[in-house]
Amino acid sequence: MIIVSIVGPTMKDAFAQVAKATPFADAFEFRLDMLYEPPMSLLFSSTKKPIVATCRPEREGGEFRGSESERLEILDAASSVGVDFVDIELNTERKLLQEFLARRNHRGVILSTHLYDWKRLDAAKLYRRMQSIGAEVIKFAYTARDAADMRFAFEFLNLAGRDKQKAVAIAMGEFGEASRVLCKKFGGWATFASVENGKSSAPGQISASTLRNLYGVESISRKTKVFGVIGNPVQHSKGIFLHNPLFRKEKLDAVYCRFAVKDVRTFMRHVAPLLSGFSVTLPHKQAVMRAVDSVDQTSKAIGAVNTVIRRRGKWFATNTDAPGALDSIEQISKVKGKRMLIVGAGGAARAIAYEAKQRGADVFLMNRSASKAEGLAKELGVHYLPSEDIRTTSVDVIVNATPVGMMPNVDQSPLPRSLLKNVIVFDAIYNPQMTKLLKDATHVGASIVQGTEMYLNQAALQFQLNTGKKPNKNTMKSLLGYS
Ligand code: NAP
Repeated sequence: MIIVSIVGPTMKDAFAQVAKATPFADAFEFRLDMLYEPPMSLLFSSTKKPIVATCRPEREGGEFRGSESERLEILDAASSVGVDFVDIELNTERKLLQEFLARRNHRGVILSTHLYDWKRLDAAKLYRRMQSIGAEVIKFAYTARDAADMRFAFEFLNLAGRDKQKAVAIAMGEFGEASRVLCKKFGGWATFASVENGKSSAPGQISASTLRNLYGVESISRKTKVFGVIGNPVQHSKGIFLHNPLFRKEKLDAVYCRFAVKDVRTFMRHVAPLLSGFSVTLPHKQAVMRAVDSVDQTSKAIGAVNTVIRRRGKWFATNTDAPGALDSIEQISKVKGKRMLIVGAGGAARAIAYEAKQRGADVFLMNRSASKAEGLAKELGVHYLPSEDIRTTSVDVIVNATPVGMMPNVDQSPLPRSLLKNVIVFDAIYNPQMTKLLKDATHVGASIVQGTEMYLNQAALQFQLNTGKKPNKNTMKSLLGYS
């Protein structure tokens, strides 16, 4: 069940929010603490869907500043107008809480607790305490400081599942984002959503349309396979927009989430066991190699991985960036026997240089910090090219593996236009799709390959490793809005 929080603050706003979210919501939570003293019967007439009335006090992250008796009066008034559920906090004075539950005959009450600043969490102990109070639903929300903190929500829901207790457990903030998507995987009663991104009532809330249309939460079950991407930050990652629709197109019972991870080891211990595979982005491309059971030879030589898959209960890591880049270049021409200049000596340059050499190219490395290119060239057994020699060295393929020209510095290019004649130019940058380097190359008649091709190829290889199915490249392009 997707419960959409209505936050107003005006009555007009609340009506507009209900109308906007109605296609995606199963129920609405009216945040009476955030709305300007609404006439309740009018407010609740805005929907025929089930209603939760909440009046969160400041001590629990809400906006209600009145006394406790005023707050309970508001909740009683909501009760008398016939809302389906009333939310009341675990830390309400014991006697008042018991009286409140008794007045509603313990039905239609969500007993909630919100822990924003915690030192130690004992999900089992908290679950037992909340469950013993006898509310119809119990709700546990707390701030996640790392992806591994989601384990408390999952444990809470697992315990509730055993007792057939209706429960909600949410790890708030970006580090807990996946807990809002995966609640049904753990038998959770509901997830709370916002009307739209940026209009949330709690940190990390996802919009109801995203939960339904992108993640397809209504069809997630205990059997659904979970995939995702780990990184930090990970909010910019486009993987969710690609893998989720592709799973649906292939009719696969799977979901792909973003996992903002600070510590790879605790993630591997507490969250990875739920997953069937995951993509890896910065800064974990090296660290994850030490946390898996095996790494393929190519990735070892490159020194980085971007894909981790589970095979017969063991974690296996590989690198699809390198073949993804070379496959894009070879859409134009095979690199065997070609002279390839790679500008840059970082992670991308390393992967591309290694794979290009494997495919028979004669590779030259040039970099702003010359010593880095020299060292990498030596390590990979390719040529080092001092920048002063660039005009006198002829090459067939040029690769930009630096961020020069990347948004917002779109007017920059790592090389002058005069060097781009009669070559294939590949720019690893994918934002913008058409960099200055590629525009210059087109101007002098060179063949170009965009960084988006590499991104799509590496993602397609990941999808294939995860599912055994080869996705359609044009479908992938249109999902990401690439031309
Ligand atoms: P990285 O490890 O940080 O390496 C960056 C390289 O660029 C270093 O060699 C650095 O030189 C050089 N560099 C940085 N700023 C520069 C400047 N202003 N002028 C000249 N050289 C500069 O980064 P990376 O992971 O290799 O990524 C490089 C590029 O590839 C990025 O634009 C990234 O978006 C792109 N990429 C694309 C894909 C894809 O799927 N299309 C995948 C991975 C990466 P120093 O050694 O002197 O610092």
